[in-house]
This record gives sequence, structure tokens and C-alpha cells, in this order.
Amino acid sequence: MNKKDIPFFAETLNKMFPDAKTELYYNNEFQLLIAILMSAQTTDKQVNKVNKIFFEKFKIPEDWIKIWVEKIKNYIKSISFFNNKSENIVKTCKILVSEYNCIIPKTIEELIKLPWVWIKTAKVFLAVTLDAPYIWVDTHVHRVLNRLGFVKTKTPLETDKKISNYFTKQDHSKLHNTLVLFGRYHCTARKPKCETCVFKEKCKYFKNKK
Ligand code: SF4
Repeated sequence: MNKKDIPFFAETLNKMFPDAKTELYYNNEFQLLIAILMSAQTTDKQVNKVNKIFFEKFKIPEDWIKIWVEKIKNYIKSISFFNNKSENIVKTCKILVSEYNCIIPKTIEELIKLPWVWIKTAKVFLAVTLDAPYIWVDTHVHRVLNRLGFVKTKTPLETDKKISNYFTKQDHSKLHNTLVLFGRYHCTARKPKCETCVFKEKCKYFKNKK
């Protein structure tokens, strides 16, 4: 697949996942940011399992800074890197309280100044809250775009850089939710559903497999 196939690709994914949205559980923007932070190197499913209970108690930044970090660690210990995540989440909450009056900033530049918030995190947050034109290049998206032949890259970071010039802003808007779901449920890492895939005739991976 190449650039000229992008409209067909985006339109097809839209039909496959008409109600696509983030699968992370949250009740407000603050909880969304925390859920995205927690989801690094962990599945959304695992994060949701913890947060469906945890977010009942922790709704706003002040809730987090009132309790001991050790207690937070204990709550989220089933999530990878829970030590680092707990400490950095508390630091982030302190900054949100002291510098932003608990209102989450809405620019990449401000968001990435918060501890443990990387560009990827900021882009996901803005894509979900403002429908900003960013694609969340996680391992699924990286795999799909390489298999189809849109990019030839070794890491999600490299893919992210490549597509920022390759795909237009409009493409990013159309693809940011559907692409993740396509990688998660259709073009899966171990058993991609190639035989029933509408893209198979144009897919580099499928052609090589044949
Ligand atoms: S043909 Fe297979 S590898 Fe290619 S996009 Fe479809 S599911 Fe993925």
C-alpha cells in the first residue's frame, strides 16, 4: 500500500469500526490523562481493571496528593512500572494543583512538561479530548503500517516520525481511533486475519507470505 491508498484504507477502517474510541476507562479529563500514563507498557484491559475501582476514590488531582505514594503503589501494583508510575503521577498532580488550578493543559508543549508525559501521551490525550489530528503509534499501529507497506521502520518512534510527514492532518484525524482497533483485533501480532482481510491483495506482508 502507498499514499494513494490512504483514503480507501481510512474509509474501510471507518466502516469496520464505526464507533471507534479509546478503550480506556475514565470519567473526566484528569482521569483520562492518568489512565494514559498508566497504560504505557500495559494493556488497556489491565489498566481498566484497576481503574474501575481506583477512580471511584481518585477523581481529581487533590485526591492523589492527599495520600501516601506507597498507598498508591499498593493500589496499582498489578500494572507494570507501578513504582515509577505512582511517583510520577503524584508529581504530575502536584503540578496540576499548584500551576494549573487542576485544569489539564491543552497543548503538547505544556503537557510534556508534566512528569512521565511523553509526546505520545500528549498526542493521545489531545486526540481523545479535542479530536486533534494525531495518530497514537503504539506497537499495534507500528506493526500494521509496516505490514501493509506504508512505512518500513524498526520502532514505533521511527514510525511516528515517518507518518507525520507521510499522512496529512486529515488522514491522522480519520485514522487515530480506527487504526489502533484494527491492530488490536484484526491484524493481530500472532494471528492476523489475512484470509478475510479486505486489504490482502495490497498488503506487503500477505504477498510475501504467499
Ligand atoms: S492482510 Fe493480514 S497482515 Fe495484511 S493488513 Fe490484513 S490482516 Fe494484516
